[in-house]
Amino acid sequence: MRLRILRTIMEANFIKRYIDKPIPKLIEVAVRYCHRYIKKRDSGKGCISCGAMNPTDAGHFYSAGHYPSLRFDERNIHLQCSKCNRFLHGNLNEYRKRLPLRVGEGIVDRLDLIVENARRKGFKWDRMALIEIIWRYKSKS
Ligand SMILES: [Zn+2]
Repeated sequence: MRLRILRTIMEANFIKRYIDKPIPKLIEVAVRYCHRYIKKRDSGKGCISCGAMNPTDAGHFYSAGHYPSLRFDERNIHLQCSKCNRFLHGNLNEYRKRLPLRVGEGIVDRLDLIVENARRKGFKWDRMALIEIIWRYKSKS
């Protein structure tokens, strides 16, 4: 019970710390913690596209710029070497081949659906959703 109260207080303070920040700043902070978590989660695994060891970049299958609804979806983000991520634009054909091995074929279908849904309805960030993402990845990483 005492733990639950403590947690509520921490969340209130956490929200207060970020609530007045502009959306681009919140995205920047969320990216930092989310990618830190991805690096921890995938440590010891090779680049998802080419298998090179010690990959350095958090690479998106559906790009963060074009598909904001999947920007912080950890099923869509895996460590990549900088060659695949930066110079081969994600090396997506190879990424697509290996993604089901990491997350399962059903999850890849689900990501496709999220993209289709966002295309139809549009997508816009709201502050609380971003603060929740920061909270989640700060505590996971
Ligand atoms: Zn690679």
